[in-house]
Amino acid sequence: MKTVNVNRILMYTMIALIAIAAYMTINSYYTQLAIYEEKEIFKLDCIARAVAYKISGEEYTELIDKYPSQTLKDEAFRDSTYQKIYQQLTGAVKMTMLPSEMYTLTKDNSTHKYITTIATDNYEWLQELPSPVGLDPVYNSGGMIGRFKGSDGTQYIGAVGPIQNSAMQTVGALQVNETFNSFLERSRQQILTNIFISLIFITVVGILMYISVKSILTRQNKLALEKIELENMRRELLANVSHDIRTPLFSIHGYVETMLMKKDSLDKEQMTKYLETTLQGTQKLKTMVDELFELSKLESKERKLNLEVFDLGEVVQDTSSGFQNEASQKGIQLQTQVSDRGIKVNADIALIDRVINNLLSNAIKHCKAGDQIMVSVGKSGTEAIVSVKDTGSGIPIEDLPQIFNRFHKGKAEPGTGLGLAIVKSIMDLHATSCHVESKTGEGSTFSFKLPLA
Ligand code: ADP
Repeated sequence: MKTVNVNRILMYTMIALIAIAAYMTINSYYTQLAIYEEKEIFKLDCIARAVAYKISGEEYTELIDKYPSQTLKDEAFRDSTYQKIYQQLTGAVKMTMLPSEMYTLTKDNSTHKYITTIATDNYEWLQELPSPVGLDPVYNSGGMIGRFKGSDGTQYIGAVGPIQNSAMQTVGALQVNETFNSFLERSRQQILTNIFISLIFITVVGILMYISVKSILTRQNKLALEKIELENMRRELLANVSHDIRTPLFSIHGYVETMLMKKDSLDKEQMTKYLETTLQGTQKLKTMVDELFELSKLESKERKLNLEVFDLGEVVQDTSSGFQNEASQKGIQLQTQVSDRGIKVNADIALIDRVINNLLSNAIKHCKAGDQIMVSVGKSGTEAIVSVKDTGSGIPIEDLPQIFNRFHKGKAEPGTGLGLAIVKSIMDLHATSCHVESKTGEGSTFSFKLPLA
């Protein structure tokens, strides 16, 4: 498994996200604008048709027939029909709240020209419409004109509604126009608000993506590093095992060979000495193989704890008394102190016994005559604490970080270097840990905690 450059991947992800956001923003602006424009023209169409529908075709024709020339505009303005239609138009402009203009117009069938009649924004009567853009197809039955340019060059959007008489004949039309700029201004605000909201949404999604991608990649990297570390440890273990097995094996091999070669010349005493040395070698090999086997069993995934509630003080006392003889033979004072009665824990009794055994045998190994070892058991809050304190040789400060690693042993130490690794594995299985404090020449204290049952 390879480690990945988290920052580079995150940078690419962020660039991709920003590019998508930019594309979406531009695309969304133009798409929304087109939709808004269509909606607006449709609205104008509805308004034009509704207002035109309310105008009576008969009254409208009558009004134009009554004042057929521009010179009669003042009379036409005063006419009640003109007033009525004019009110309808201005009322509709006010009600719809659109910045639009409305005017009625009539087609002069002889000249094919469009003549404006009543308008909301000028007081002219019977004026020729300067730019009748797109009017022809919609004059008779109404419809949308879309975007067009007025005579002054201004862009408009507009729609037309037919003014009909009771015989459903079109006698005129009502046109509603809105300048494209005023529409653009209003829509732009709404579109930008929409885009702003989507950008906030994209940013939130981006941040969440950033966080999750980062955590996935970091986890993946961690796993890769752990795998590499594990692989290194496996290699180191193999090298250490072969080295440690080779030494006693060579010595056994050498002695057996010598005994075979000199079997006739060796006296009984020499033979016994050689055999004893060979036995020591095999003993050492056996211990090592046993401990390796034990460690691999502890570290295998199938390993399950045989949990039971027991009195920790009693177990510590029993184990400790088993070392009493060995300690006194070496002139070491071994004491056990249990501060409270009935310190119950729920743990694997055999494994905890193994931990105390390993710690005590180490303490005895590293003490000389006159030294002291104190094994104590106590309570602290909801936990039981066991500590093995000795006044022995102590551990050099540079060795402390690796002390629980497999095969780590002090220089020229005779052991296998597996005892504390076994302790660590057992502690791991119990979801706790073993701590060490030590100073060269002053002694060491190993301690561990277990939750009270
Ligand atoms: P070993 O079987 O070689 O003792 P351990 O894993 O039990 O292996 O211990 C590893 C090393 O830690 C030892 O070689 C020794 O240097 C050091 N050590 C462990 N316990 C003590 C102690 N009580 N006092 C001094 N050194 C210790």
